[in-house]
Amino acid sequence: LGFACLTHHDPTRLLEEMRLSVSVSALLPDSSCLQIEQVTIQDDGVVISVQARSSTSCCPLCGRASDRVHSQYTRRLADLPWHGRSVRLQLHVRRFFCSVPDCTRRIFAERLSAVAGVHARTTNRLREAHCLIAMALRGEPGARLAKSLAMATSPDTLLRRIQGLSVSVPSSIRVLGVDDWAWRRRQRYGTILCDLERRCPVDLLRERTAQALRDWLQQHPEIQVISRDRGDDYIKGATEGAPQAVQVADRWHLLRNLRDALVRTLDRHQAVVREASRTCAVKPAPQKPTQLVAEPPTTRRLTAQSESRRARRLQRFEEVKQLHAHGVSQRVIAERLGIHRGTVRRFVHASSFPERAQRRYRRRADSSTAYLRRRWGEGCRNAARLTKELEVEGFNRSYHSVRRQVARWRRQDGGAVVAPGALGRRRSSITRPSSRRISWLLLKTDDSLEPDEREFVQVLQERSPELRTAAELAREFREIIRQRKKEAWSDWLVRARAPETAKELRTFADGLQKDEAAVQAALTLEWSNGQVEGQVNKLKTLKRQMYGRANFDLLRRRFLRAR
Ligand SMILES: [Zn+2]
Repeated sequence: LGFACLTHHDPTRLLEEMRLSVSVSALLPDSSCLQIEQVTIQDDGVVISVQARSSTSCCPLCGRASDRVHSQYTRRLADLPWHGRSVRLQLHVRRFFCSVPDCTRRIFAERLSAVAGVHARTTNRLREAHCLIAMALRGEPGARLAKSLAMATSPDTLLRRIQGLSVSVPSSIRVLGVDDWAWRRRQRYGTILCDLERRCPVDLLRERTAQALRDWLQQHPEIQVISRDRGDDYIKGATEGAPQAVQVADRWHLLRNLRDALVRTLDRHQAVVREASRTCAVKPAPQKPTQLVAEPPTTRRLTAQSESRRARRLQRFEEVKQLHAHGVSQRVIAERLGIHRGTVRRFVHASSFPERAQRRYRRRADSSTAYLRRRWGEGCRNAARLTKELEVEGFNRSYHSVRRQVARWRRQDGGAVVAPGALGRRRSSITRPSSRRISWLLLKTDDSLEPDEREFVQVLQERSPELRTAAELAREFREIIRQRKKEAWSDWLVRARAPETAKELRTFADGLQKDEAAVQAALTLEWSNGQVEGQVNKLKTLKRQMYGRANFDLLRRRFLRAR
């Protein structure tokens, strides 16, 4: 017993060596079963000779202990590095005779499962470290990091480490949240399952199908509540797979479905929307009615890029319309054109091309534009000065942006460049807010609207009683969901399904009626998929780290191990 570098044999040194040896043992994978024979510190690493402490070992076949040693051999195991030096264990393994007469195994080698697997060439703990590296970085980059940490391994080994991980699915889930996640956006979706009580993901499914969900649920008869969206797949899967469970329509999805219905209604009322936006946009500012002629358009400048983007979208819209006219199903259209099914659905139901949403900074830009417009009317034409004034007024707008605006008005003042017809067309297609944006406005309460928004909403509702009713129903439904007004539900449902209601909202209400038990559960039970959203985001991050090259199994293992 001793260190190769220490060769003294006076009693105090020996005692020191012993103490050192005992404390070094603490650095071994399992000091209770291994003892050190020798430690050699070399330039390229540390070699530790070890052997088992126990004088006996158990036969792997019959389980009886034996102390009759047959022979010995050396096993080499890579271990965790010490202070940047790689560590190799030279493990002296003994072979034993099995002394049980009727055991078929005559000779066996001792096993040290706490240290390493049977044929492993690394200790368990180094394996675990490699696994962590593999999960963070995968093959090639992981191997590079491992090498610089003095625990070198190959990229293939790292990938095998992840594949070798077992991921267990907990068996006592009471409340389950089911949602979908984009494996490839707009094309392929999978299913994520979360334990809503423990607030953690429990499994990932490759697909978003009724069958996949049903098969999974059949393994989990303990589930009592399932929160899910109102997609047919999940309803069917949950009903067949877990008939014992109460299904809850997820409140967030309910509100999203509501807004989609409102958007579709608005898509159908493009003409009214156009009129209303024209009425509101052309209206003169009350204090300066004479400026009407020089009224600059509030349009954001159309860049060549956004023009072409719009053209592409328009083309897609026409393709969808055409395919639909030929009787191609919406699902097939989505697959063939590589666009989202929701988009296909919108396009199919829209009476005319639905414009894209305006940028978010729109309103802010508009209020600074209103100021500029007033100053322009007062005769100030100097962009630099206007920029300074804006700054004092608390607007954050660049000199270049102001100069562009001023230059545009100057051109219009000259009257030569922009033909009125062209301007009119452009305005009608672009200044009009998108259906999505209007749907937000319609859902807002009166006092949370800006004055110009309120006016727009009023004009819109005056011109179309159908839109007014639709908006009222939508606002009511939102309140019912938000405040769980269970008592208001059945009355709302009757009115929403009345023949005079906009057909998109009627369809929405019909769908709710079909799924009524789940909707009512959403008004009674607290469960909702809000937290699942966070898990989906985690999954997205993980997927991005894997650079899209990961296969499903790898992703699933990594995701569930990280929970
Ligand atoms: Zn035996």
